[in-house]
Amino acid sequence: MNSRRKIALVTGSGRGIGRAIAMELALRGYGVVVNYARSEAPARELCEQIGILGVPSMSIHADVSDHNSVKKMFSAARDELGSVDILVNNAGITRDNLLMRMKDEEWSSVLASNLSSAFYCSKEAIRPMMKEKWGRIINISSVVALTGNPGQANYVASKAGIIGLTKTLAREYGSKGITVNAVAPGFIDTDMTRILGDSARDAMLRQIPLERAGLPIDVAKLVAFLASEEAGYISGQVIAVDGGMTTC
Ligand code: NAP
Repeated sequence: MNSRRKIALVTGSGRGIGRAIAMELALRGYGVVVNYARSEAPARELCEQIGILGVPSMSIHADVSDHNSVKKMFSAARDELGSVDILVNNAGITRDNLLMRMKDEEWSSVLASNLSSAFYCSKEAIRPMMKEKWGRIINISSVVALTGNPGQANYVASKAGIIGLTKTLAREYGSKGITVNAVAPGFIDTDMTRILGDSARDAMLRQIPLERAGLPIDVAKLVAFLASEEAGYISGQVIAVDGGMTTC
């Protein structure tokens, strides 16, 4: 790896956990590609904040469930900031339903947004990383991938798939200086969990030894560590950020 500034691409980073990750990486001096699907204004505003730090960034629209859209995003990122050294596959959606009521579209849209997206982005990122003999891929899974969760067959399958993808890519590209890890957040306070009713929220909180919901920054700190030189001998791992809710 030469001494040029490293570039991170964080999918779905206009808001929520992705936004906290993008900002934390910028604070540590990485150039950042802020990807959004719908949150254009927040993504632009984040880039303005990053600019104040004197760090380069760009916001870019891409639906990461679509391979062509992902290809265009990587090409634009390369043209504007250089090749991506750190890929954070963060974008995700939920479409909850019990199996017997789950529509095919609810299944396929969640698998496409949460799992195929990570495959597409990793595929676009891997060659330049191999050329640099250095790379970091950090995939955002979930603790439910380890435990299962009623009403989330689609989401849990996608997040368990992320773990399989992580472990396989870690084996395929370790010899090229690329580490691949998964982060499994527990109950984090974002738009995704704010839609839960009070009783579901209270039930979740009762399962957390640290007695609070996590914050996006709790996840971002671990991602930033995994992106660093210091984490260079950690690969193929699934690390929970869940206040002690589960053990991996
Ligand atoms: P969130 O607040 O709902 O944000 C989801 C993000 O994903 C948004 O930035 C959204 O972008 C982006 N996104 C969704 N579909 C996309 C697509 N097709 N293309 C590009 N971006 C897309 O959720 P969050 O809580 O921050 O979740 C972030 C990640 O953490 C997800 O993978 C989620 O599964 C995981 N996670 C969250 C929790 C939790 O408790 N919150 C727990 C475990 C795991 P736009 O707004 O631009 O559409």
